[in-house]
Amino acid sequence: MQIRNVQFKGSSERIAQVPKDALPDIAFIGRSNVGKSSLINLLTGRNGLAKVSGTPGKTRLINHFKVDDRWYLVDLPGYGYARTSKTTRDDFAKIITDYVLRCERLHFLFVLVDIRLEPQRIDLRFIELLGENGIPFGIVFTKADKLSKTQAERSVARFSEALREQWEELPPMFVSSSEKRIGQQDILDFIGTCLGNG
Ligand code: GDP
Repeated sequence: MQIRNVQFKGSSERIAQVPKDALPDIAFIGRSNVGKSSLINLLTGRNGLAKVSGTPGKTRLINHFKVDDRWYLVDLPGYGYARTSKTTRDDFAKIITDYVLRCERLHFLFVLVDIRLEPQRIDLRFIELLGENGIPFGIVFTKADKLSKTQAERSVARFSEALREQWEELPPMFVSSSEKRIGQQDILDFIGTCLGNG
């Protein structure tokens, strides 16, 4: 699949503000600084679309971008505050859980994971929350250019092992680098299949 046209449709502070039409949302989330804005810019081929910044945790908004009048690419706020809490749900901002768990617009969610890191508890907890709630998701490993091919494969295997402790079946997984422009076609083709146009 290729993206031809992208329009910014708005930022929402609450889920009451998200678009009301029937087009499906394909959303992106991850820890702050994981490379989400860079990946969104890579996928859409528009450099300034999502704001790349070195300052983690700055945006608390849900951004909707309408793509080819068919679907919305959704940029969710980053998560990953060092908080401990009684329930998994409390580890994540309310806007995130409201959108991810309750918003029927969400068609598929990409969880971004920095390929260089050991499996992070916060990512595993978020993925657990998705599983418990039956949310369709996949994983995108980011910043693959920072590792050799062998190291990258090891890292994906290590994350898969961590997931296998909880899951019998693994989610779809993608390896990407915004820097080296790796992975965008696989992700776009997967989105195309998700939307039903192969
Ligand atoms: P966000 O906070 O998740 O939106 O992350 P950003 O896209 O703003 O990226 C955070 C930092 O990581 C920035 O300094 C980016 O330049 C850097 N970065 C993002 N993607 C890549 C990548 O694929 N490779 C490398 N080497 N750096 C990246």
